[in-house]
Amino acid sequence: MARYREAVCRLCRREGQKLFLKGQRCLTDKCAIEKRNFPPGQHGKSRRPKPVGYGVQLREKQKVRRLYQILEDQFRNYFEKASRMKGVTGENLLLMLERRLDNVVYRLGWATSRAEARQLVRHGHVAVNGKKVSIPSFQVSVGEEIMVREGSRENATILRALDLAGNRGVPPWLNFDRAALKAQVLSLPKREDIGFPIQEQMIVELYSK
Ligand code: SF4
Repeated sequence: MARYREAVCRLCRREGQKLFLKGQRCLTDKCAIEKRNFPPGQHGKSRRPKPVGYGVQLREKQKVRRLYQILEDQFRNYFEKASRMKGVTGENLLLMLERRLDNVVYRLGWATSRAEARQLVRHGHVAVNGKKVSIPSFQVSVGEEIMVREGSRENATILRALDLAGNRGVPPWLNFDRAALKAQVLSLPKREDIGFPIQEQMIVELYSK
């Protein structure tokens, strides 16, 4: 499966904001955005005109794609699905991304980044309603129970992430039982649960050209 293999801090620098792609490091002063908040590359430091029109739309799409670590084709598929659904396309798109199993694992604090969460899912450490699910894009539904599988309860990555997550809290649409390492989907996520500055309308405009 194709995936991005370059230095991920470049992605944050390109978008000019923290996308939290590197786990704990993102919260320290080693974060590249804290030290070098200008675009990567030879001309990164030179003044560039502020993007307008198409440029703004493109940056917004790239930001969300990078935040959830989705490749272009898959992101486009999400958009097409979102546009066929009832409701507001931009919101539908974000909420589908939010319902991905790897995102849920990250939101629950079982991993320090979405990339780490994806790895945990792929390696079979997570079950939904008692059955192993190793597909990171799996969409969780209301009432489903997501758990760390029995044999993975002592997994060092999960325990470390839970320690670091501390009091980060989980979104209101999930209920997490820390002792049982189990969570339940209480409702579908709402737009305001995303808690990251995104102008989804820009993405809709970009893809509607
Ligand atoms: Fe982005 Fe994290 Fe790198 Fe900072 S440390 S630039 S937030 S990936």
